[in-house]
Amino acid sequence: MKSELVYKIPKTLLNKGTGFLANYSHSLNPYAGCAFGCSYCYVRQMPVATFRKQEWGTWVDIKQEAAELLRKELHRAKAKGKVTIFMSSSTDPYQPVEQKERVTRSLLEVMVEDPPDFLLVQTRSPLVRRDIDLLQQLKDRVRVSMTVETDRDEIRKHFTPGAPPIKVRLQALQLLADAGVPAQATIAPILPSSEAFPHLLLPLVSRVCVDDYYMGDGSGGKRTSRLGMHVLYEQLGLLEWYDPSAYRIVYDRFQRVFPEGQVLLSQEGFAP
Ligand code: SF4
Repeated sequence: MKSELVYKIPKTLLNKGTGFLANYSHSLNPYAGCAFGCSYCYVRQMPVATFRKQEWGTWVDIKQEAAELLRKELHRAKAKGKVTIFMSSSTDPYQPVEQKERVTRSLLEVMVEDPPDFLLVQTRSPLVRRDIDLLQQLKDRVRVSMTVETDRDEIRKHFTPGAPPIKVRLQALQLLADAGVPAQATIAPILPSSEAFPHLLLPLVSRVCVDDYYMGDGSGGKRTSRLGMHVLYEQLGLLEWYDPSAYRIVYDRFQRVFPEGQVLLSQEGFAP
């Protein structure tokens, strides 16, 4: 689906980390809206989306003059104390249009010049590989968190048809590992996956974060329930995966394969 693209000049870029992101000093969204339009995305119920008439996934605002604004805000924030940034909380910083617009890249350039104490780059797009040169310069102050909800691409297509295939996300993780950029696989929200999933990720990442709708949607699963997610599970005959205990299937499988302490749950997996 094609998204409507609008250019906007933001008043602020760094927002205070609150709620699920309370252990970050700031969140940073280079775009508003998200072309990936995942079925389970709870951002569609947040004010950023509900104020709009268009359906979530059909619009993207491109923030202009963002680098200059971040330079100033980062300088000010660093003067006040530790700066830990979560990019991004209500969009994916590697929107398809980022290829051309380079907003996220321009923000990374600012952060290379004047590094925050920590930056988490949360994405599901292989486009992150384009910025490996900048990520390398941030050394251990950065971690790329690549969403890989399942190893089964037919499941991914059912829930997030507009998002990049699993295979290209794994390839991006391989490139990040080869380049020495700290990275983790983020299985969030868990979708039905196979027994072989941990073995697929083990050569690519040393760290995994597991999260689900109940721990991770900021409302104990209520937002997800309002989205009617159970219907998609029913269609697949996989309702047992739409259950507060289902994360244990994935968590236990990964714990059996990954070194102790490297499989993290929900908020601790995203922590700086
Ligand atoms: S990529 Fe993230 S922000 Fe975008 S629709 Fe999917 S869950 Fe929502």
